[in-house]
Amino acid sequence: MQPGGRAPAPGELALVQAFANSKDLLTAQDVFTGPEMLRAWLTTRHLLAKGETISEEDFRRALAFREALRALVRANNGAAIDANTLEVLNQGAEGARLSLRFADDGRPRLEPGASGLDGAVGRLLSIVFTAMNQGTWARLKACRNEECQWVYYDTSKNRSGSWCMMAMCGNRVKTHTYRRRRKEQRDDGTPDASVTHRQRHPRSQAFHRQQASR
Ligand SMILES: [Zn+2]
Repeated sequence: MQPGGRAPAPGELALVQAFANSKDLLTAQDVFTGPEMLRAWLTTRHLLAKGETISEEDFRRALAFREALRALVRANNGAAIDANTLEVLNQGAEGARLSLRFADDGRPRLEPGASGLDGAVGRLLSIVFTAMNQGTWARLKACRNEECQWVYYDTSKNRSGSWCMMAMCGNRVKTHTYRRRRKEQRDDGTPDASVTHRQRHPRSQAFHRQQASR
């Protein structure tokens, strides 16, 4: 279950969603604390074959790819895609050596020719590509709260959802300007409201559940 009682994205797209949400910007928690954690995560989800390794360099590339993926998702909620994002995604596709293959059911899909992290990146990109063709991609969104950007699957009829949770981010953004103004006026050493919010954040519990179910 996702924040706000949402269901995760359908099918393999949930893998892309989980990968992007492996870092929670609001709570500053990251599932990928190092190459070994990344390797375990990818292997468990069959994105990496057993016995394949993740180097420090792979780890850095994976984190950059994660941010590019999040940026691509943000575009579904109105954000612009910058040149750096496109470069990282295209490098990922190139490194994965994606090629078109027809499965037993006659449907084509992209499969990576590369192994290791390149192959894992290719599998994630292949899922994105398929979702774009099936029409599910447009519903995968990143919360419009800049500090949050949690990736959620928007099942609303008119695809109008802008926030991971209206109660958490929607209202928060609306009152943000007011609160900042008030804080500047006060500036008396009272703890920053956003820190308190972070500590109390319901997502901390979701994160720990994700950790426990790995
Ligand atoms: Zn949010």
